Parts: sequence; C-alpha cells; structure tokens
Amino acid sequence: MSKASAAEEQTVNVYGWAAKDSSGILSPFHFSRRVNGDNDITIKILYCGICHTDLVFVKDGSLMPTNYPFVPGHEIVGEVTNVGCNVTKFKIGDRAGVGAMVGSCGSCNNCKQDLENYCPKMLWTSVGEYYDDLRNFGGFSDKLVVDHHFAVLVPNNLPLAASAPLLCAGISVYSPMMHYGLSNAGQHLGVVGLGGLGHLAVKFAKALGMKVTVISTSPGKQKEAVEQLGVDDFLLSHDQDKLQAAMGTMDGILDTVSAPHSLLPLIELLKTDGKLILVGAPIKAPELPHIPLMLGRKIVGGSAVGGMKETQEMMDFAGKHNVTADVEVIAMEHINTAFERLAKGDVKYRFVIDVANMLI
Ligand code: NAP
Repeated sequence: MSKASAAEEQTVNVYGWAAKDSSGILSPFHFSRRVNGDNDITIKILYCGICHTDLVFVKDGSLMPTNYPFVPGHEIVGEVTNVGCNVTKFKIGDRAGVGAMVGSCGSCNNCKQDLENYCPKMLWTSVGEYYDDLRNFGGFSDKLVVDHHFAVLVPNNLPLAASAPLLCAGISVYSPMMHYGLSNAGQHLGVVGLGGLGHLAVKFAKALGMKVTVISTSPGKQKEAVEQLGVDDFLLSHDQDKLQAAMGTMDGILDTVSAPHSLLPLIELLKTDGKLILVGAPIKAPELPHIPLMLGRKIVGGSAVGGMKETQEMMDFAGKHNVTADVEVIAMEHINTAFERLAKGDVKYRFVIDVANMLI
C-alpha cells in the first residue's frame, strides 16, 4: 500500500468551502483530515478570519501556485475537542487558535530559535501537503487536526470572533514591531494602509504608548481612525503638502499595502536611521530608491508572520491590553460577496466567518 493510501485510511470527514478553479468562487466541499495523532489537537472551528492573502490564493496563486480545490483560511479559532497523549499545553474545552503555518522541520537553525516561520520546510495551513501526503486545507471548514506546537491558547477575556484575525494579521505586525525595535513608548510609528493588518498595527502601537500616524489612500477612514482607533495623525498618500510637512519625523513605518505603490514618499517620512518594514505583499515588487536610503542611513526590511513562541506572547499581550480586531462577522454562505467587497477595500477592518453556524 502506498504511503498516501495508508494515510487516507485513517482520516476524519470534514465539511468546508473551497475554490474549485481560478474563478475564485467558493462552494461547499467535503474532504478528509488525518485522525488526531499523539502530538495533535483537534479544534472545532468556530470562527475564521479572511486575510487579503486568501483573496490572492483563491483567484490566481500569483504568490505561489494554488492547488484546486483550495480551502482558504488561516486565522482560525475554536474549541479543542481532542488531545493526543503527548499534548500537555491544551485540554479538551480550551480556546485555541491556529495561524498561517501548521508544520516546520523542528531541527534547522530557524526552528531552534523559535523562528519556525522562516524554516525552509515550513508548511502553510492551507497550501501544499502535510508530511503524511494528505493535502493541507484551511479554516473555512468545521474542524482542524493540527500538531499542538502550531496552536496557541486564546486568552479567555477576549471575544473569540474578534480574536481570530490576531492569528495572522496580528502576529504579522506585532512580530516586526518587536524585532525591529519599533515598540517603545514615545516612538513615532507610521502605518501605511488601514486594512486588516494596518488597524491591528495601530492598536498594538497605541497599547505600547507610541505615537501613530496612518498613511492611507482612503479619506473615508480618517474620522474613525482618529476618533475610534486613536491615531495621532492621518495623512492621505496624495496630499503632498501634509507629506512634506511630516518628512523626517518617523522612527519607523510598517507598510501593509497590498497593491503596488512607491516607497520613496515613505522613506522620506523617516528620521535618520529610520526603518521601513514591508509586510504587505503586492504582486509587483517595488523599486528601491537607494540614494535617499544612503543619505539618511535608513533601512528597508521585511517580515512574515511570526514564530509560535512569539505568537503566544502576542496573544497574551492582546489579552492583557484588550487588543482585538474590528470585525464584520458573516455567514459562510456570504463568503463570495465578502471576497468581492474585500477586493474593493470595503470592510472595516476584517471579515470573520461564523463557521460554527455554517449550514451543512
Ligand atoms: P487589506 O485588509 O485588504 O488591507 C490592505 C490595505 O492596503 C487597504 O485597506 C488599503 O488601505 C491599502 N490599499 C489597498 N489597495 C491599495 C492601492 N491600490 N493603493 C494603495 N493602498 C492600497 O489586506 P490585509 O489582509 O491587511 O493584508 C495586507 C497585505 O499584507 C496583503 O498584501 C497581504 O497579502 C499581506 N500579508 C502579509 C503578511 C506577512 O506576514 N507579511 C501576513 C498577512 C498578509 P487604505 O485604504 O488605508 O489605503
């Protein structure tokens, strides 16, 4: 018997929604996951966020090839319903979360430093195959079996739906803020793009006592950003006068924009030694204006999600400071409309699917 068919004999039935082709239209889909192993937990998925990366994957796979049928979803929260005999961190009934990854080699230098997210053999939650050759399918589905190392505890005081986006959007901004030293009270942080990632960057930065300026293409977001998110300043990216006035004022900038755009105006906003950190993933690579970088000893860096230890730290920080996403909870049956609206930037600031009440 082949390895694949042996694995398929030991599976559980799962119901979810999948894109079947590059139209990106999602529809109901039945599939299998492995049975709960000694190191695994099974999660009854209650909510799953919709990340901009899901939108790219369902449509064209331009970040990496999409295998159809494709079940998106990597901002997963739910209730633990089974634990393997080697699992001590979780018990049945706990609130657990899973983000963008479900596996890594465990032995490379990155894994040894709690940087599983940079392991060359890292496995994405909804892409590729697991070690048993079963396909990985994401969280737009009723249950997930996952190695407990790749799950975190969700603090009990946080509302579950609004916590789901922390698992990807949250850690993707928290990790670079910590790593690049952009987390100190009194520092001035610019946040470019007020979407899922951007609004959580604002919330973490405000919880850390930072001054925050949002740089946005959307005038309609200004009032709420100031009055509800508490941003200190809001610059429209086409307002040359205000950009000019803000030149040289920021210690760092987190760029979360999903579309091609120029980096030059952002580099000009930085102080000497300032850091521009790219976390958005536009399909077209930006041009790098090196002379303005050299003349201010400025740095351009990047960052992708975060390691598991740091993801638990981020969840605990969020629990302590009540940081959650502003979400619009939708029924699974409205998923295709939600994707259309996300493509137009019509959401404040994250769609989250009410998976538990999905009609089966
Ligand atoms: P999102 O909710 O759609 O937010 C993206 C924001 O970018 C929008 O709200 C908008 O903000 C701005 N934007 C969109 N189109 C633009 C355009 N044509 N010109 C200028 N600005 C535009 O997306 P998200 O889920 O936050 O994800 C943001 C990016 O991060 C995506 O590329 C995603 O793939 C990537 N991502 C990276 C990581 C990582 O680990 N590095 C993790 C998850 C996602 P304004 O309206 O304020 O301009």
